[in-house]
Amino acid sequence: MQNRSLLFIIMLLLFVGVIPAQTVPDLGEYKTLKCDFHMHTIYSDGLVWPTVRVDEAVREGLDAIAITDHLEYLPHKKYLPDGHNISYEIANKYAKKKNIICIRGAEFTRWMPPGHFNALFIQDANKLIIKEFLPAIEEAINQGAFILWNHPGWIVHQPDKVVRWYDIHTTLVERNWLHGIEFANWHEYYPGVLKFTDKYNLAVIGNSDVHGVSSEVFLSQSDHRPFTLVFATERSEAAIKEALFAGRCIAVAEKDILAGPKDLTNRFVKACLEVQVSNNGDIFLTNRSDLPFIFMSSNQKEYLLPKSGTVNLPKQNENVWTIKNVLVDNNNYLTLTLEK
Ligand SMILES: [Zn+2]
Ligand SMILES: [Zn+2]
Repeated sequence: MQNRSLLFIIMLLLFVGVIPAQTVPDLGEYKTLKCDFHMHTIYSDGLVWPTVRVDEAVREGLDAIAITDHLEYLPHKKYLPDGHNISYEIANKYAKKKNIICIRGAEFTRWMPPGHFNALFIQDANKLIIKEFLPAIEEAINQGAFILWNHPGWIVHQPDKVVRWYDIHTTLVERNWLHGIEFANWHEYYPGVLKFTDKYNLAVIGNSDVHGVSSEVFLSQSDHRPFTLVFATERSEAAIKEALFAGRCIAVAEKDILAGPKDLTNRFVKACLEVQVSNNGDIFLTNRSDLPFIFMSSNQKEYLLPKSGTVNLPKQNENVWTIKNVLVDNNNYLTLTLEK
């Protein structure tokens, strides 16, 4: 009876959202954290007060957020004279009470090239107000920043949505001043990014870049906003920073398209699956995660493994399956051999 009461209380807490549901498996020694490293508040061109971003993160089961207001585009500036650090400081104070990790960031807002860049884990956003681009990045680097190239295929920068690499990006890589690129941003994702993350060993990131209210922008048409799965040694800001610099992350676009390095996506998808093989070779899969996976057989037939659901796969000669919603580079999906 006591156990049943305890179970009831736990179910109730899960239902009212006090305990966030465990929705993605950890990866061996690493904790899997859901993170969004790009969002705006009223302190740039966002439409919400900074604490709203924390409440949204709690509701959507995120572990960490970065507040990344534009440094150069402040349409509400005359009402907000307190500088570029205040949005983070308001959000962070509240985030501590809500057990959300809040990261200090800022967005450099330049025409392409070079485009827009987030500096994450900075110390003082006010010191990043520098007209020339490379000295501005250098200041962020001196503050210990992780530099992320944002939405490189954004239609405003690239009308044909093609991701293009310019000399300035080579300069950044040569100086070790570029550490990741957004594969997923807002309602979009850019497979062309993977050519460059692969070539230059950069982190593959998914972010919301939310300006309005998250539930209105994303939850009306998807289960979730875009986010990044980070494989960190512990649930802390320092561990997230270490994992990002090591490239231990996978981007998740709004419509459940995942992208990341081959070995990491392989390990993660395997961790999500419970595999049972019957005597006649049929496969029964259970999904331990809240991300769906689309399995394609060698004769191109597709089978959906729903989030937290199950699917039966028929026996096939080569037991190799293509996961059609997991990209490992510009042209290839993840392939898996399914064994018990
Ligand atoms: Zn931007
Ligand atoms: Zn932005």
